[in-house]
Amino acid sequence: MTILWAKSSVIFDFMTTKPKHIVLKPDKDKSVLRLHPWIFSGAVAKRDNDIAEGDTVSVFNDRNEFLAKGFWQNDSIAVKILSFKDEEIDFDFWNARIAAAVAYRKTLGLLSDDATNVFRLINGEGDFMPSLIADFYDGLVVLQFHSVGMFRHKDAICEAIKNSLSGKCRAIFNKSSSTLPNNNSYRAEDKFLFETMDEDCVVLENGNRFLIDYNQGQKTGFFIDQKQNRMLLQRYAANRRVLNAFSYTGGFSVAALSGNAASVTSVDVSKRAIEICERNIALNFATNNHTSVVADVTEYLNTIGKDEFDMIVLDPPAFAKHRRDVKNALKGYRQINRKAIERIAGGGLLFTFSCSQSVSMDDFTTMLFSASALAKRNIRIITRLQAATDHPHSIFHPEGEYLKGYLAYVE
Ligand code: SAH
Repeated sequence: MTILWAKSSVIFDFMTTKPKHIVLKPDKDKSVLRLHPWIFSGAVAKRDNDIAEGDTVSVFNDRNEFLAKGFWQNDSIAVKILSFKDEEIDFDFWNARIAAAVAYRKTLGLLSDDATNVFRLINGEGDFMPSLIADFYDGLVVLQFHSVGMFRHKDAICEAIKNSLSGKCRAIFNKSSSTLPNNNSYRAEDKFLFETMDEDCVVLENGNRFLIDYNQGQKTGFFIDQKQNRMLLQRYAANRRVLNAFSYTGGFSVAALSGNAASVTSVDVSKRAIEICERNIALNFATNNHTSVVADVTEYLNTIGKDEFDMIVLDPPAFAKHRRDVKNALKGYRQINRKAIERIAGGGLLFTFSCSQSVSMDDFTTMLFSASALAKRNIRIITRLQAATDHPHSIFHPEGEYLKGYLAYVE
């Protein structure tokens, strides 16, 4: 059944309005009662026969008590919960959630910060909208849908974003071809959903300028989560020879040069990322001491001399996509950290990260301990590092704390 529903002269076409039912096994309601937003398929006892990927479902416990509403997925996570109340998932719902996300960013001083006009506007579970990412690039909002259910609501979500940003949204681009396949019932292709932008998208982060490769780049085009860590690096970079390993488009490289680094070398395996890195350096500095290298970091680290660098950034992609990959991922992290620690100059600073959700802070700490012991160098921890404040995670969803790292002083 198709229901047309009008609000502020905009018509939304919701595929279904009557939620389908699922019932959990005895005791499997505990995590839902603790407000965790995921229900695993093994917890489901019964479900309506006609539930399809992306349908809105109402979740009940074995005593037939309502627990939550969410989107069904044919996956190990069977339901991503949107609400613990029995409410309509309509324009008013999205408008309230997105207005709350905007209010949180305003609390952080974003939207009125002259030095930074790039931030994460919606951070999935961290903003109580699982599977929805929205990044704000000076008025261009890039959306990434990670579930079919969320994608079906894109029209209402776009309207709510425009409404909540009151005039500050210039265009909206959907970047979900890598997160949702196109199929017969929907087209997730990358394209503008509201207005268009012909010109390059250039933003300011901490006063540094960056070209955003939203159309062809990784994720939504830029790794905004490192904003505060880049600011920290800028503070410590003066006169240091910096190696930015896994540089992508040079976020840390530009920050280092802004902080008067003696030299910066950016290394990434992606030729396109390095090309944009070079454009970003040129956007900020007429003259500079920057070198870029297209290479595999693991191999590149074997070629650097001892004492060649006195600041090293290691920001690899997620080595573990699943819990079962953690052991191998930790070996990978240990290998690159060991090499960096062996070769960094005395008094060197190491910024080292993992963005794997399944690798815990404890795992990462143990890994750094082993790498330091194998490298036979003394390490002092200056501080722990995490994602920027515009990437909040919910207290009920610890998995949301995916980015972890250390700034370490190598003796
Ligand atoms: N620090 C970056 C983000 C890094 S994302 C920033 O602040 O923007 C991880 C990067 O690692 C991606 O650009 C990816 O192309 C690159 N990468 C993945 N595997 C690699 C490898 N083996 N060697 C070098 N780069 C790699």
